[in-house]
Amino acid sequence: MGKTKTVKEIKVDVDKCNGCRACEMACSAFHTVPKYSGINPARARVHVVVDELKDVYVPIRAGDYTQSECAGRDVYTINGKEYEECVFCRASCPSREYFKEPDSGLPLICDMCESDPPLSEPLCVKVCGPDALTYQEREEEVSEEEVKQGELEIGLKSLADKYGSQRIMDTVARMSKKA
Ligand code: SF4
Ligand code: SF4
Ligand code: SF4
Repeated sequence: MGKTKTVKEIKVDVDKCNGCRACEMACSAFHTVPKYSGINPARARVHVVVDELKDVYVPIRAGDYTQSECAGRDVYTINGKEYEECVFCRASCPSREYFKEPDSGLPLICDMCESDPPLSEPLCVKVCGPDALTYQEREEEVSEEEVKQGELEIGLKSLADKYGSQRIMDTVARMSKKA
C-alpha cells in the first residue's frame, strides 16, 4: 500500500437532532480566543436549522467561502414539507448572516476542530447528547497525482520561504516566457 491520508467524517442523523444547539455553543467556545473564554453561537462553524412547525432540526457545518451568491439554488421538499432555498447549503455566502465572524465579517469554515494536541473527536460530536452527530476516521490511499501535487507544494513553499513568493512568481513568469 502506498501513501495514505486520513479522511474525517461526521455522520449526521437528523432524526436524532432535537435542536438543543449545544453543538453551536461548544464550537463557538472552542474557537473563541482565548479558547473557552466566551460563548457566541454567531462564531460557530455549525448552524442548526430549527423549524419547530415542520419538526425539523438540521445541523449544517460551515463549508467553503463563496464571494458571490450562486445563480442555481436548491429547494428541498422532505416528507411533503418544502424548505426555503439556500437553507441546507454549507457555504459562507453573502446571501446570509451566519458563517461569518461577527466582528470582522471574515468567513468561517469548519476545521474539524484542528487542535494541538488533537482532539479525540470534534467538539460538536462530543457534546451532542442524542448522538445526532457521530465521528469516524478512515485511511484512504492517495493517488500518485495527489502525491506529486503534495511534493510540488512542499517544494514551492520551501522556495518561497527562502526567496520570497514574489521572486518565485517572477522567476516562473520569466521562465514561461522563454518556453
Ligand atoms: S448538539 Fe446534537 S442534538 Fe443538539 S442541536 Fe447539535 S446536532 Fe442537534
Ligand atoms: S447560500 Fe449557498 S445556495 Fe444560497 S446563494 Fe449562497 S452559495 Fe448559493
Ligand atoms: S467539527 Fe469542530 S469546527 Fe466543525 S462544526 Fe464541529 S465543533 Fe465546529
